[in-house]
Amino acid sequence: MSDWKAQVSEAVDRMEERLREVAKDIFDHPEVKFEEIRASKLLAGELQKAGFEVELGVAGMETAIRAVHPAVSDGPTVAILGEYDALPGIGHACGHNLIAAGGLGAALAVGTIKSELPGRLLFLGTPAEEGGGGKVLMIDAGLFEGVDAAIMFHPSTNTMVGRGSLAITEVKIEFHGKPSHASGSPEKGINALDAVIQTFNGINALRQHIVDGARIHGIISHGGLKPNIVPEYASAEFYVRAPENEYRDELLEKLRKCAEGAALATGARLEFSLVGHSYKAMKPNKILGERFLKYVEANGIPYNPPKDKSMGSTDMGDVSQAVPGIHPYVQICEDDVAGHSREFTEASGSERGAVAMLAAGKAMAMTAVDVLTEAGLVERIREEFNAG
Ligand SMILES: [Zn+2]
Repeated sequence: MSDWKAQVSEAVDRMEERLREVAKDIFDHPEVKFEEIRASKLLAGELQKAGFEVELGVAGMETAIRAVHPAVSDGPTVAILGEYDALPGIGHACGHNLIAAGGLGAALAVGTIKSELPGRLLFLGTPAEEGGGGKVLMIDAGLFEGVDAAIMFHPSTNTMVGRGSLAITEVKIEFHGKPSHASGSPEKGINALDAVIQTFNGINALRQHIVDGARIHGIISHGGLKPNIVPEYASAEFYVRAPENEYRDELLEKLRKCAEGAALATGARLEFSLVGHSYKAMKPNKILGERFLKYVEANGIPYNPPKDKSMGSTDMGDVSQAVPGIHPYVQICEDDVAGHSREFTEASGSERGAVAMLAAGKAMAMTAVDVLTEAGLVERIREEFNAG
């Protein structure tokens, strides 16, 4: 191992206590998307203390961070990413407190030797992964321009690299009918709830004919006011997900047809809208992923991929389509635990979670050192990225 890699690893060891405190502070004060005031200030403060040039409040988001290490020279640009938003009601059930502390540790560790290394080192604090698309806004604001490698990690029930993510779009379907007494004059009403139910039935029939791994799941968000009034208004929300962006778009059109059919059958008027953010499918860089895995294993976390191939969605998908990037997973609990559950929240605050965060921080720092210093590596990473 090069001296530099040993040095960044030792730097994480020296910061261990502080990084544990950062992870715990964010865990103890969960903030939902776009409201990560305390977490973003905490991270920005730590970066500032370490000499980074820090902007808090970029890309139109109060809680987004762009921090640059002042030692800049010719060479590659590495960005280490940190998420810090929690989920409503169940706290850090996705472990973003560990992502933040691990990313901070990696950036600060590389920062301790950056004056000896070529290139540019960034830490990007990316708000609102849970449905707000902070990274999408940061890409649109040009904050990923010139980045040769975007590196983050995500806590999980398994340790794996190279796992993709599903493209996702959120859809809102509303039907407008006509109210009427449901018993006295039902023939005069147009039932908006029936249109929603027909939409669900249409989609359930469609399921048999969609590709493996795609997902359509929804809720009825409004179903009427009282049983004795024919529902004038009803609405549903769906997430449409697929392994590829194009197929996600195809499914969206099929879903629209199901809703149009329901409108035709019931006479209710359809309003079909895309709401929230769309995330692209992940394109994980293999070269970067292999490096991360090698280093996280060297730091005591064994490779342990799950048997199933199920995937979620993340705005890191968009980053990975814009610049070469990785979103490897590091195990913090047994694999019968579900993500976004109370058990996962517990794991995000556990000793095992902290140990995984420290190992991931080291592995990200060592991967960043490779990108900055290894001759020809950036070119090979770029070649893989451009090949598809
Ligand atoms: Zn997450």
